[in-house]
Amino acid sequence: MRCLKCGQKACLEIRRHHAAFCPEHLLEHLHKQVARAIKAYRMFTKEEKLLVAVSGGKDSLALWDILLSMGYQAHGLYIDLGIPGYSETSRQKARNFASAKKAVLHEISLREIYGVDVGYIARKNAKTFCSACGLVKRYIMNLAAASGGYDAIATGHNLDDEAAALLGNLLYWQTGYLRRQSPHMPAGQGLARKVKPLCRLGERETSAYCLLQGIDYVLEECPMSRGTHTLLYKELLNKLEASAPGTKDQFYLGFLRTGRSFFHNRIEEPILKPCTKCGQPTTDEVCGFCRQMSRAGLDPLALRAAIVDSVGSGV
Ligand code: SF4
Ligand SMILES: [Zn+2]
Ligand SMILES: [Zn+2]
Repeated sequence: MRCLKCGQKACLEIRRHHAAFCPEHLLEHLHKQVARAIKAYRMFTKEEKLLVAVSGGKDSLALWDILLSMGYQAHGLYIDLGIPGYSETSRQKARNFASAKKAVLHEISLREIYGVDVGYIARKNAKTFCSACGLVKRYIMNLAAASGGYDAIATGHNLDDEAAALLGNLLYWQTGYLRRQSPHMPAGQGLARKVKPLCRLGERETSAYCLLQGIDYVLEECPMSRGTHTLLYKELLNKLEASAPGTKDQFYLGFLRTGRSFFHNRIEEPILKPCTKCGQPTTDEVCGFCRQMSRAGLDPLALRAAIVDSVGSGV
C-alpha cells in the first residue's frame, strides 16, 4: 500500500476516498478535510474565540490540536462528571495536553460543586446515565460559552458519531432532531453556536492523527456507553462501510446536502424563553436542567456561579 501523494509506504488506507497516505501526507489530508468542513459550513473565523469541549478522548484532543495548529483561538472546557474509572484519567489527559500546548483549559467538576456525581443525579431522576449526563453537559457548555464570551462551542463529533446519530434519528423519525442535525448550529434564542469540525473524519482517522502527533488520550470509551444504541448503529454502519466503502459519507454528507432541508423547511423551530429559575433558554417555564437538579435536591444556581467564576474570569 503506497501513499497516493508521494509513493512512499502508506500508514493508513482510507477506502472511501480511494486513497492511502504516508504519515506526512495523512496529516496534510486530515487538516485539509477539517479546513474544508470549517469553510463549507461557515463554522467560524480566525478572529472568533472558540470553546472546545474536551473529554480527554482522541476526537476532542485531535480537534483541539488541529484548531490550535491552524491558528484558531481555541480554549478547552473539561467537564468532570465523576464517572467512576473514567473521569479521573480523562481529566488528566486533558490537563496534560493543555499544559504541553500551553493552552487555556477551563475545568468544571460536579463533585467539587455538589459533592455528587452524574450517576447520583440520574438515579434521583430515574433516568439513564447518558440522558442525565447529556443534559448537564449541554447546559454547562452553553452557559460557559456565554460566560466566557466565546463565539462558538466546538465538539469532537466525527463522521461515525454523526452517521450513527442520523441513523437513530431516522429509525425513530425524530423530526425535531433531524431538523437540527448539522455540523453548524447557529446561535439564537440564548443558545450558543455549535460546530463539529471533524464531521468529515472517521474514527480511525482521528486515532491515527493522535498516534502520529504523539497525543496521549484516554483509550477507553466512557464505560456508560456500553450497550447503548449508538454503539449498535456504529457497528451496523461499519458493516455497510466494509462492503461498500463510502456508504457513511453518502449517508451523512448526502443528508446534509439534500435531506436536511426537507426537515428544516417543514418542522418549525421551537420558541424558547428564559427559564424562570436560571435564565437559560427553554420551551417550558423551568428548564430541564433546573428540574433535574431540583429532583436531586441540588441547587441549579450553584453550578451557574461556579461556571461564571471559572470561565468568566478566565478569558
Ligand atoms: S457515554 Fe453517556 S455517560 Fe458517558 S460521557 Fe457520553 S453521555 Fe455521558
Ligand atoms: Zn506521502
Ligand atoms: Zn433553568
